[in-house]
Amino acid sequence: MILLITVLSKIFIKDRENFSDASVKRKYGLICSLWGMFLNLVLFGAKLAAGAVSGSVAVTADAVHNLTDFLSSVISFLSFLLFGSVPAKKKHKKNIPGENIAGFIIGFILAVTGIRLGEASVHKIINPGEVHFSYISVIILSFSFLVKLYMAYYNGSYGKKLSSPPLKAASADCFCDSLSTVVALGAVMLEQAFSVKADGWGGLLVSLFIFAAGCKSAFDSIKPVLPYKKARKKNLSETVF
Ligand SMILES: [Zn+2]
Repeated sequence: MILLITVLSKIFIKDRENFSDASVKRKYGLICSLWGMFLNLVLFGAKLAAGAVSGSVAVTADAVHNLTDFLSSVISFLSFLLFGSVPAKKKHKKNIPGENIAGFIIGFILAVTGIRLGEASVHKIINPGEVHFSYISVIILSFSFLVKLYMAYYNGSYGKKLSSPPLKAASADCFCDSLSTVVALGAVMLEQAFSVKADGWGGLLVSLFIFAAGCKSAFDSIKPVLPYKKARKKNLSETVF
C-alpha cells in the first residue's frame, strides 16, 4: 500500500529521491497528508456506521476520534501548503517554522486525547457498563487497526526520510490508535469469553501511553527551534573552558 505514495511521487515529484530538497519535501508532505485525510474520513464513516448498527458507545467514540485525526491531517496539509516551500536553512532563526508548529499541535492533540481517554477509563473502572459484542464492530475495529498500522508505517517512514515533525507526530498518533484499537478489541473478546471487565483498565494503560507519546511528539517537534538548546551549549562550553 505504501506503493500508492511511491506511484504518486513518481507522477508528481520530479526529483523524487532528493529528500532534502524543500519542494520535493513539500510535495511528499502534501501527498502523505492528503492520503491521511482520505483514510481518516473513510475510517470515520465506517466507524460511525458500525457504532450506529451495533449500538456500541466505544465504536462511536472511536469514530469521533477519527474526526480529530482528520483535523490533524488537515493541519499537516496546511503546514506543507503554506510553509513547505521555504527551505529550512533559509528560515529566519527567530521564527518558529510552521512545520514544527504543526507537529507540536498534532502532538498536543494526542496528549489531550490521552487525558480524555484516561478520564473515560477511570469512569469505566468505577461503573463498568456492558460492552456489546457484535461481529460488525469486531470487523470494523480489525480493519481500522490494519489501516492505522499502515498509516503509522508510511508516515513514520516518510517522516524520517524528510525529517518532518508533522509526519512523525502523525505516525505516533496512528500507532497509538492501533494500540488502543487492539486493547478495545481484546476487552470485547475477554468480556465475551470470560465475562471479565477489562475495558477500563486496558483503556487506562493505553491512555498513559498515548499521553506520553503525545508529549514526546509535541516536544520533539519544537525541540529544534527552542532557544534553550544554543544557550545550553554556550553554557557548557563556558563551564568546560
Ligand atoms: Zn488518532
